[in-house]
Amino acid sequence: MEKPLDSALVWFRRDLRAEDHAALYHALKAARRVWCVFVLDREILDPLLERGLEADRRVEFIIDSLIDLDHQLARLAVAKRLDGRHGLIVRHALAREEIPRLARELHVQAVYANHDDDPAALARDAQVRGALAGAGIALHTSKDHVVFERNEVLTASGNAYSVFTPYKNAWLKKVDAFYLKAYPVDRYADALAPLPDMLPPGVPSLEAIGFEPTNLHTLKLPSGSAGAHELLADFLQRIDDYHAARDFPAVKGPSYLSPHLRFGTLSIRRVAHEAWQRMQAGSQGAAVWLSELVWRDFYHQVLHHHPHVVHAAFKPGFDAIRWEHGKHADALFAAWCNARTGYPLIDAAMTQINQSGYMHNRLRMVTASFLVKDLGIDWRRGERYFADHLIDYDLAANNGGWQWAASTGCDAQPWFRIFNPVSQSRKFDPQGKFIRRYLPQLARLPDDLLHAPWLASPVDLAAAGIELGRDYPPPIVDHEAAREATLKRYAVVKGRG
Ligand SMILES: Cc1cc2nc3c(=O)[nH]c(=O)nc-3n(C[C@H](O)[C@H](O)[C@H](O)COP(=O)(O)OP(=O)(O)OC[C@H]3O[C@@H](n4cnc5c(N)ncnc54)[C@H](O)[C@@H]3O)c2cc1C
Repeated sequence: MEKPLDSALVWFRRDLRAEDHAALYHALKAARRVWCVFVLDREILDPLLERGLEADRRVEFIIDSLIDLDHQLARLAVAKRLDGRHGLIVRHALAREEIPRLARELHVQAVYANHDDDPAALARDAQVRGALAGAGIALHTSKDHVVFERNEVLTASGNAYSVFTPYKNAWLKKVDAFYLKAYPVDRYADALAPLPDMLPPGVPSLEAIGFEPTNLHTLKLPSGSAGAHELLADFLQRIDDYHAARDFPAVKGPSYLSPHLRFGTLSIRRVAHEAWQRMQAGSQGAAVWLSELVWRDFYHQVLHHHPHVVHAAFKPGFDAIRWEHGKHADALFAAWCNARTGYPLIDAAMTQINQSGYMHNRLRMVTASFLVKDLGIDWRRGERYFADHLIDYDLAANNGGWQWAASTGCDAQPWFRIFNPVSQSRKFDPQGKFIRRYLPQLARLPDDLLHAPWLASPVDLAAAGIELGRDYPPPIVDHEAAREATLKRYAVVKGRG
């Protein structure tokens, strides 16, 4: 069959792989010559530099993953015995200007990309679409980042779901092998075009775009698709135990795949298929893990249908809550950020995110609840802190998680349910292994005292070599008093869900 287009450009964004890639597949199938580009978008990167965030693990993860993607594209071309130098075009520019410019320079008839439903990305894409249309170039976009998007899973009356369990049931009813099938990119890879001579080759270094190396390479987080496959293979050996192990931060229970799913170095269809097949064969662990992937789709569709959640509570009445502000609130917030709350599980968790850019899911729930319901701080401040520090930061999931913890969100924790940070610690880190890993200054406290050092007698503290206030802070709030204050604070929303 004759290909309808002479040439096309694939614009990579949060999909940094060359296998099972919707946009790449559609472009290769439609055009005789296809180029691939990623723009290190100054609209996103320059504000980080302006805020002094030169050391950003995500930027380093992206650069590593671009190098890997460049190699993957070159390998596809070698497998097809194509002449010339193949790989990825990488630009450091404003994407909204650079994509139309490059498309014009290359004289392509169409640009292909995968959906990115973050409101800022949609606004950027609308601008790009307009600029391309002005030059007679089409922009074709496809679903790729989630299994089901936008309006694909709706209630019987055609509305978006706002409660997870019925959404999940509908999702599971709809999913089948067709939706999880991989796009066979290699089938059409002979359309990959050699890199044009006019463009500088290779992926720029971190330093060339104004950033600094981080500790990324010392973490157990291999980047690029190769790294993603390594982590997936490791997790698939443990997936059957996921349901039992996933809540204990000292245990290697979860997959640690979140940065790969965020940046698309791994296909969501691939991982969902692995879990779905195992679930059908009776694996409880796989069923629970698949459920987490459904949460991911759920929050993406919440963001699509309710973009106001970016700035405000999903449940509008909850914007009436008065959060703490002023110097005292700032000091409490700083103590939370700097792992100095005096509650060991909270401080160990905040040390984990600060040192590694990752935090265990149970601890994201507990630290978020602590900030909002023990310290009375606006959930948006915590959301922003996580956004700056998580390698897997994803607007939809992070916003959903914060609004869940603050009880302001879609299918959230009821507002009167307040995690007790000490009970959570005793339950999910019973031997204090996680706490000791991140707070070695408390390591010599016996297990029963580790969760609440202020309850230890002076003799016990001395035996463990600890002076409260010198080696470790006393608690910055009393949980019971904070709980009472929170119930009063939330009283304005009584009866509002
Ligand atoms: C306050 C808060 C903030 C969060 N911020 C983010 C974020 O910025 N980015 C992010 O990817 N996840 C976020 N989560 C969800 C979850 O904590 C992480 O996805 C998970 O800890 C990542 O580790 P993992 O890959 O080992 O997870 P696994 O347990 O192996 O889960 C597999 C995958 O499922 C998805 N997933 C799991 N739980 C959730 C969830 N509750 N919501 C949406 N997707 C989920 C992720 O893509 C994850 O990689 C947040 C949760 C909370 C409570």
